[in-house]
This record gives sequence, structure tokens and C-alpha cells, in this order.
Amino acid sequence: MRDSRERLAQVIDTLPVAICAAGTDGNLIFVNAFKAELFGFEADKKIGQSLQDVFGAENGESTMALNRMVFETGKALPPFEEEIVDARGDVRVLLTTKSPLKNLTGQVTAVLTSALDITTRKATEGHLRHLAHHDPLTDLPNRTLLHERMRRLIARSRRGDQPFALHMLDLDGFKAVNDVLGHSAGDRFIRHVGDRLRQAIRAQDTLARLGGDEFAILQAQVTSGEDAAEFARRILDVVAEASDFENSGLRTSASIGIAIHPDDGLDGEDLLKNADLAMYRAKGEQGNAFCFYAADMQMRARNDALLDGELRRALENDEFLLYYQPQIDMRSGDIIGAEALLRWNRPGNGIVGPGVFLTRCEENGLIIPLNEWVLREACREARGWQDMGLPLRVSVNLSPVQFRKRNMPDLVKSVLQESGLTPELLDLELTESIVVRDFDAVAADLQQMLDMGVHVSIDDFGTGYSSLSYVKNFPVDRLKVDQSFVRNLTQDSNDAAIVRAIVTLGHSLGLKVVAEGVETPEQLARLRDEGCDEAQGYYFGRPVPAWDFIALAAQWPQLAASA
Ligand code: C2E
Ligand code: MG
Ligand code: MG
Repeated sequence: MRDSRERLAQVIDTLPVAICAAGTDGNLIFVNAFKAELFGFEADKKIGQSLQDVFGAENGESTMALNRMVFETGKALPPFEEEIVDARGDVRVLLTTKSPLKNLTGQVTAVLTSALDITTRKATEGHLRHLAHHDPLTDLPNRTLLHERMRRLIARSRRGDQPFALHMLDLDGFKAVNDVLGHSAGDRFIRHVGDRLRQAIRAQDTLARLGGDEFAILQAQVTSGEDAAEFARRILDVVAEASDFENSGLRTSASIGIAIHPDDGLDGEDLLKNADLAMYRAKGEQGNAFCFYAADMQMRARNDALLDGELRRALENDEFLLYYQPQIDMRSGDIIGAEALLRWNRPGNGIVGPGVFLTRCEENGLIIPLNEWVLREACREARGWQDMGLPLRVSVNLSPVQFRKRNMPDLVKSVLQESGLTPELLDLELTESIVVRDFDAVAADLQQMLDMGVHVSIDDFGTGYSSLSYVKNFPVDRLKVDQSFVRNLTQDSNDAAIVRAIVTLGHSLGLKVVAEGVETPEQLARLRDEGCDEAQGYYFGRPVPAWDFIALAAQWPQLAASA
């Protein structure tokens, strides 16, 4: 008997379960080694002592209370979780059960308490829950947790709390950061921005990362639209200050779309969708801007989708065409070339200009096949002129998007080969936005194209913020003075000064200077005085279909002579 009882005690001692039993008087009858160690005492020294003495006043009291329930009902308590502080001072989570021990007559004489230590399991669960609710890169709440927080705020605002605002934030030009600095720097940059944003918001707000360069911020308790606007302004400042990232010289900015509950959406899905629409509108304003959701945006989004479909069909159905506008040599007065300008013969609308569809094409990616077509078509046309004995240069506008996605030198080379056009008769017009980032790669591409004999011009010169660094760093051979300076040239002395400065700058760098948007003889005379080399504008001719342009160019010498 004693042998088997000892063996049983040994077995119980080796179990990784904390076990003890206490009698009706609240004194300890039995405790196993695991439990004794957990609480830091020697098992046999405490038998017969009160639970308060053994486990401390507070622990003992609550244990007694639970035990009394078992004594009174004669039934086991369902397992429950409790937290204790162990002998080392660590908090442990126990899954505890209490059951009655009965004598032969069925009387409850003691309560047996057994507890599993589930601290690690809880920690793992907690960790998993954290993983499921947080973004691994920044450790910020993810989309799931954002939705949860929104649900909570929505529930609260139904109970009469204040409205809240959802700010969708997308970094401007993040793709370029990845392309130029590499993906691991891109990741560090996202973390950097995340840290800054986290420091900027209040405890009751939620900052989440939704993926890529997209963040969302829940601004709790918004008092007014101005309150949300103020918040968005502060966030934009924070992002601008993040330009101190690793001495990279990055210019950092973001676009923010704001949707306010309940006006702009009743549930999280709607709020996200609408804040997103507003964010795209902000992007359209060149970034570094915020925009409130407005009901017409859904309509606009629908219209955009319709237009996208129409444009895709237009490309398949050959509805695009090129108009040509003459470019004149200031000294000789001859037509020396033409700028190819894209037009769309839109069914039911007639011929429409690029203002209507170009931005859409840049946003939906159609610009790439479309502009490739423009390049092919313009070169084919110019080769035709060459064959007719009119060796005129053709200028083609390139899109920044296209430049980023395609290997331009290869494309240009193959198009030249296909068409058989002399490279010197092709001029590529870039706007400054092509090269806002990615400096070195673009410069190398440009040099490669110049080496082929192709010309490269900077279009709309003087309107961007970095014009000077362009001409310094980029291999180009012409500057096109933006129309806005030519428009008031004869009235506004500032514009005249700017034109003069651009001409001086261009010439000292060995570049030709072209004036755009020349409409009057006064403007022409003034531009000639300032030393412009070439001119283009309605004064010489509007953009016209290819055949009209050929007719104009063929008659030009006579027209010029009779003028
Ligand atoms: P841009 O390259 O600066 O082209 C000059 C624009 O000014 C043209 O507008 C032209 O019609 C207009 N213009 C020319 N002379 C005058 C004038 O004397 N007075 C006034 N007020 N305007 C004049 P358009 O054809 O509407 O083109 C607008 C812009 O669309 C172009 O500006 C260019 O950036 C872009 N674009 C046109 N065709 C293409 C293309 O094939 N590909 C790409 N990526 N962009 C294109
Ligand atoms: Mg142009
Ligand atoms: Mg221009």
C-alpha cells in the first residue's frame, strides 16, 4: 500500500501541472513539487498551514472563496484562466480547475486544485494575434486592425460620440525611391516615414500601413472639416520633414484623401473607398496636397472607367492621329520642322486634343503603347517628307511614364531603323517631370540617344522648379521656352526678363532656344530681339493634319517671299 502511494506521489510530483488540495478549514493538505516550486517553497514544510499563509493574503483569500463554492455545490468549477506572480516575480497565466474530493460517504472533504501553466501558449497566441493585426515591415496596425478600430469608432459614434476622419495617405514618387535607391532602402524609407507619423499622432488616433507606400490614419473625435484639414496639413509637414532620410537628398511628399464618418460613408469599406478616391484627386494636383471626398468623385471614377474603355478601343480602332505644327528658323524664316501633336477622332465628338485624354492614358498605362505609336507614326511621316525632298525635323513629345517604363534608346533605335528616317530629323521633347528623380539613369539614356544623332529638347522650360539643374545635368540640345512667358512678353517686363535670361543661359551652354506659343508679330519681333533661334505658334500655323502641313511646307518659300 505504502509503496504504491509513494509511487503515486512521485508521479504527481513529476507532472508539469500545479496541484494542491485544501480542506474545509482552508488549510493545505497536499501540494505537488511543481506548484511548490512555482511559488518558491518546499512542499512538506507548508502542509497544515492556511492558504493565506502559504500563498499570501490576497491569493489565499480568492482561492478560499472559490473553494467554498465547490464545497457548497459539490461540483467542479469549469476551467478558468488566472494570472499569478511566481516566486521569480514573473507573471504567469494558469488554466485552473477545481474539483471536489469526496470521502466514502460522498461528503466533500477537500478541494483539489490543478493548474496548467499556459504562459507560453498565451504569449504565442498574443504574438500570432499581433502578427495577424500588424504589418511586418513597420509593426504598425494593418488593414484588418484598421477595420476593427473603425468598427469600434462607428459603434461609438452611433452612441452619440463625435465624428471621425479617415485620412488615406500615399507617398508621392515612392516608386522612384525604390528604383533609384534600391528596395532595401525603400523599405527603410517606409519605416522611417512610419516612425515619424507614429510620433505625430495622438494616442486615440490609429496609424495603419495598408501596403506599399500607403498609410491610413484614423483621426478620432473630429470637431469640424477645418479640424481634419489642419490634421492633414500637419501630416504633410511631417512627411516633408522625413526628407532627412539617410542624407539621401530626397524630396518627400504625400497625397492625402479624407473621408469623414458618417457624412462620407457609413461603414469602413465605404470610408476607405471614398478616402481613396479623394486621395487620387489630391495626387492629380501634383501631390503634396490633401483633398476631401466629395459625392461627385464616385461619378467621376465611373466616368474615368468608361473613358478608359473608350480609349482602349480607340487605340485598337486607329482613332488616334497626329497633327503637325510648323517650327520656324528665326534667321531665315524657313520651316525647319514640325511638332507632332496627338489628336483623337472620338466617335460622336470630332477631333479632340490631348487635354481630354492624356492624363487618363498616363494613369491607366495606355500611354505606353499610345506614345510608341506616336513615335512610329511621326517617324514614318517624316521619312515620307524626306522622300518628297522636304527634309524636315519632327518633334515628338515623350511622356514621363513612358520614359520610366521603357528602354527608350532601344525603342528609338528600332523605330529609326524601321522607318529609315535620318536620326538628325528626329527631336524628342521631354518635360522636366521626366527627370525629377532617377537622374543618372535618364542622363545616360539621353546621352545614348544624342550619340545616335537624335535631338533632345526640354519642353515647357522654366515652369518646373528644377530647370537649372536640368540644363546642368542633362545632355540636351534645345530649350523650349514655355508659352506662358511668351504670352505677355510685350506687356510684362518680368516675362521679358525671364525670356532674356533663358536665351542667355541656353546660348552660354551651347543650346538652341525655341519660343512656343507665338501668336502676334509683336511677340515675334521681340523674340527675335532677345535672340531666340526658333519659333512655333499660331502666328505661323496651327497644328494641322499631315497633308495640310505638307501643303503648307511646300508653299512656304513663296508665302514667305510674298509676305
Ligand atoms: P506642348 O508639347 O507644349 O505642345 C504645345 C501645345 O501648345 C499644343 O497643344 C499646341 O497646340 C499649343 N500651341 C501651339 N501654338 C500655340 C499658340 O500660338 N497659342 C496657344 N495658345 N497654344 C499653342 P496641344 O496639342 O493641345 O498639346 C498639349 C500638350 O499635350 C503638349 O504640350 C504636350 O505636352 C502634350 N502632347 C501632345 N501630343 C503628345 C504626344 O504625342 N505624347 C505626349 N506624351 N504628349 C503629347
Ligand atoms: Mg511639346
Ligand atoms: Mg510646350
